[in-house]
Amino acid sequence: MPRGVINYGHGPKNDGTYDPGAVGPDGYQEAAETCIIGTKIAQKLQNNGWDILAIQDGDLKDITDQANSFKPDAFLSIHANSAAPEAHGIETYALAPGGVGEKIAREIQKELVLATGLTDRGVKFANYWVLGKTIGYPAVLTEIAFISNPVEEALMHKDSWNETVAEAICKGFSRALGVAYGETKKDGVGKVLDVAVLLYTKEDYWSGADVAVKNGDCAIFIRPDDHSVPKEAMSAQKLIVVGGPTTGHPNEILLSGKTKYDTAQAVGKYLG
Ligand SMILES: [Zn+2]
Repeated sequence: MPRGVINYGHGPKNDGTYDPGAVGPDGYQEAAETCIIGTKIAQKLQNNGWDILAIQDGDLKDITDQANSFKPDAFLSIHANSAAPEAHGIETYALAPGGVGEKIAREIQKELVLATGLTDRGVKFANYWVLGKTIGYPAVLTEIAFISNPVEEALMHKDSWNETVAEAICKGFSRALGVAYGETKKDGVGKVLDVAVLLYTKEDYWSGADVAVKNGDCAIFIRPDDHSVPKEAMSAQKLIVVGGPTTGHPNEILLSGKTKYDTAQAVGKYLG
């Protein structure tokens, strides 16, 4: 399984303060935008079989320490650019020319420009902390657009634009690393479910069945005896967990209590 680190630029710091990154003319914070884009990327790549470590941290050393111990196949940092209000467009950085880092940067840059139609400022090279201190694997940093530009800041408020950006980055990132992206097999095997229900035991079936009906009769999974989470359930876009502990699924609804009566109550409340 390919492994990737997705770093959402800026965020909470060890000293208790918060690094918002650049702030747009309308007050939009870079850290909020990188979180939205990064979360989408992490989810999409996970749905395509990636093992992803997502990091949002205001301390650069913490980012590279975590990334280095995860030992990914590649590292991607998401940022929004900032300069004079008229500056605009997309640029992607690698540490140095040649090698896989540049290849990833070029593929991401190409896909982003194609998908958004924004100005191509090209692939650039810089010894940024997250590019220079990520050791043993390629690393890139994408400046998706200028948050300091009122037009581009307005784009960042649109979910459809964020979706387009995340999709383009995933395509370029995957292609550069030779990993298939967005392919579903004809027979439906490997197709990503929109929503699934996960039961802790068979005893949760009746409450779980009602939850599935409420969600368009979606698929129901039951945890095996070792209580592990079936892969297909984990790759669903949304996972509704009935009974048992959280799965760590990024888009999880947890309907669970200490006893099966508490769980039934949580389900009842959800069903309304
Ligand atoms: Zn930044």
